[in-house]
Amino acid sequence: MKTLPLGVEPIVAPRIDFDESKSLIGLSHDEVSAKLKEIGIPEKQCRMRAQQIWHWIYFRGAKSFDEMSNISKDLRKKLSENFDVGRPEIIEALISNDGTRKWLMKFPDGQEVETVFIPESDRGTLCISSQVGCTLTCTFCHTGTQRLVRNLTPAEIVMQLLVARDHLNEWPSPSEGRLVSTIVLMGMGEPLYNFENVKKAMHIVMDDNGINLSRRRITLSTSGVVPEIYRCGEEMGINLAVSLHAVDDVTRSQIMPINNKYPIDELLTACKNYAGLKNSRKITFEYILLKDINDSDEDALKLVNLIKEYKIPAKVNLIPFNPWPGSNYERPSKTRVVKFSKLIFDSGISAPIRTTRGEDILAACGQLKSESLKARKSDGTFLS
Ligand code: SF4
Repeated sequence: MKTLPLGVEPIVAPRIDFDESKSLIGLSHDEVSAKLKEIGIPEKQCRMRAQQIWHWIYFRGAKSFDEMSNISKDLRKKLSENFDVGRPEIIEALISNDGTRKWLMKFPDGQEVETVFIPESDRGTLCISSQVGCTLTCTFCHTGTQRLVRNLTPAEIVMQLLVARDHLNEWPSPSEGRLVSTIVLMGMGEPLYNFENVKKAMHIVMDDNGINLSRRRITLSTSGVVPEIYRCGEEMGINLAVSLHAVDDVTRSQIMPINNKYPIDELLTACKNYAGLKNSRKITFEYILLKDINDSDEDALKLVNLIKEYKIPAKVNLIPFNPWPGSNYERPSKTRVVKFSKLIFDSGISAPIRTTRGEDILAACGQLKSESLKARKSDGTFLS
């Protein structure tokens, strides 16, 4: 077994088989009900049984039908012969010095995906991936160096939350004081390029018969896929975070090629009209600070002017660049970052500097997967 950096504790998670073709996870009530009918359960029972199963999966966190004690033994046997509610293989589970946790899970087709949990004093945020890799090639992003392999299914998206709650021992679902109190779709991939699956997964997560997470506690982060931003507001109504990262089209197109397709004007117009903005919600603009690229005083002031010009209720999240092996950018000095933030704050717009969490376990987007693949390629094992 490879030695992990100081302070990083390996967790060897039990392997529970997950067969997605048989899994009931990620299916709507009606779909579970239809599956039950297919195996000969009388039609008038299907809805009620589907509700029971749904409750066991999403409220109690059941990983096998044997746990479903209010279902008869015979029926449980029949269910386990035909279906599955297990989890995928967890190939790495790491805890950072600062409490950040990271899981790398492997699905039956061999594809791997990472999920990060960031605990804070009064809440915890789970960062969920929506694709394996990403097509968008943002030049500062490590995931952008991994070619897109595929979209994640609704089951695989919801599964990341179930796995986190298994490891945090957070079943049955508490109504308040939750460890996982917030979800951000900010992991690997562009969630709006996997719109239908993300939408289905989020409707499962929000359903009050199960996990019951409020739409106000879910944030989708996009690089700016303008047509789907409109749909996201109307069909999901969740919070929106936009990776802006630059204030003029030339710079933004250089670091985010999607800007050639959806330039800043179209993007900010979509933000201004975002349906989720009702009820005094704000859009979060993510802004990664890259030394000498987008971190000048002029950039900060232009950012303020853009937000005011488009009249967008907004806050800004400043992210000093977290260098990764092979990256071409540097992190600006602390003084520069603080000045950038102050200029925005002085205009009345909140612009906190996001502290880098989990650096010792490579918590920046896409890093764990790449590094662990490299490690396993070079010495055969990393952590199993
Ligand atoms: S920043 Fe997001 S959209 Fe851009 S390459 Fe990385 S994962 Fe993809």
